[in-house]
Amino acid sequence: MKETNIRIKQKYIDKIKKGYPLIEKDSIVDIGKLRREGMIINLIDSNNKFIAKGYFGRQNKGNGWILSYDKNEIIDYEFFRNKIEEAINSRKHMFRNEETTAFRVFNGEGDNIGGLTIDYYDGYYLINWYSEGIYMFRNHIYKALEDLTDYKAIYQKKRFSAGGKYVEEDDFVIGVRGNFPIVVKENGVNFAVYLNEGAMVGFFMDQRDVRNIIKEKYAKDKNVLNTFSYTGAFSVFAALGGAMKTTSVDLANRSRKKTMEQFQINNINTDEQDIIVEDVFKYFKYAVKKHLLFDLVILDPPSFAKSKKFTFSASKDYSNLLKEAISITNKSGIIIASTNCSSFNMKRFKQFIDKAFSETYNKYDIIEEFSLPCDFRIKPEYKESNYLKVVFIKKL
Ligand code: SAH
Repeated sequence: MKETNIRIKQKYIDKIKKGYPLIEKDSIVDIGKLRREGMIINLIDSNNKFIAKGYFGRQNKGNGWILSYDKNEIIDYEFFRNKIEEAINSRKHMFRNEETTAFRVFNGEGDNIGGLTIDYYDGYYLINWYSEGIYMFRNHIYKALEDLTDYKAIYQKKRFSAGGKYVEEDDFVIGVRGNFPIVVKENGVNFAVYLNEGAMVGFFMDQRDVRNIIKEKYAKDKNVLNTFSYTGAFSVFAALGGAMKTTSVDLANRSRKKTMEQFQINNINTDEQDIIVEDVFKYFKYAVKKHLLFDLVILDPPSFAKSKKFTFSASKDYSNLLKEAISITNKSGIIIASTNCSSFNMKRFKQFIDKAFSETYNKYDIIEEFSLPCDFRIKPEYKESNYLKVVFIKKL
């Protein structure tokens, strides 16, 4: 394939050499030379010296990803196959684990190809394409999965059209179509998954360790409130862990049916669980008025959300969200504060926590901390990719 030299601004060169994998928009001198999504570009300095090789793919994050530091590397089928093989090999233990049949097989730049993730759902492979550029290599990726795995089927989500928004279309690529929902397992717990219903499949694998510890250690005999509950994943694990009762709150209408379904496939009596379709901020007001108190409160908001009455931005409003939660948490109760917002780090997140407790004159202890599980491989040189932050806080 023809390769194009692209000049990089001096001040970005060191960073790239040190392993930063993203080709930042502002780093490029010859911006006009980026013509075709998926083109292979050789990044050069002002003396035409080779720095790294990558592909052009427009994402909100940048203009593509570095693929190699070897000038002679050819970006062909072999290249993609090797990377995917390496990723699969590093997760061999997960393929063997019968208690957990859903995990991430390939995590973008963490597995050395940015803009691409592949998830495994009990024999089904789901590819996420984050730019048109990486999508140009799709036939190599399909073939690599064909050569390396015994898939039941491959599905895909194109997450790049219409300004990064997901566009509804047939997600099936090849194999035998699944009969959805398929039921996967996570640490022995059932989960109904839809690979053919828009961008969201029903659960977020990156919270696997958090869900498990809730079930094993924090739920027994507790009155649990799960806010921003979506399909109720945390509630299911809490109920199976022996919670006295769970209350799931989410604004989206679909959440009731989806949460019922997850309870039912785990034989949980839904009469004992509350599922409330409402704005979380409205629910907090209601709970305060009714003097409701919970032993375990889970906060897992999106980074940004707009409802009729409230706008929530994790980087601005997390402390306020916590204050609301603190007011309805029992003494010695636990708040699980989670965020997937990549614009602040754990240190900053803990400042939000501290602010909320000190402004409400409460004391606290941090008793657990989680970040991404091991199948969500990250590049240490690219800190932004380590987005997940979960803190278990005990209200004293
Ligand atoms: N905790 C979930 C994932 C949350 S996804 C899980 O473990 O699977 C974010 C959810 O927040 C979405 O389902 C969305 O409908 C909901 N949401 C966004 N703003 C909200 C609000 N103001 N009140 C209640 N739910 C909200």
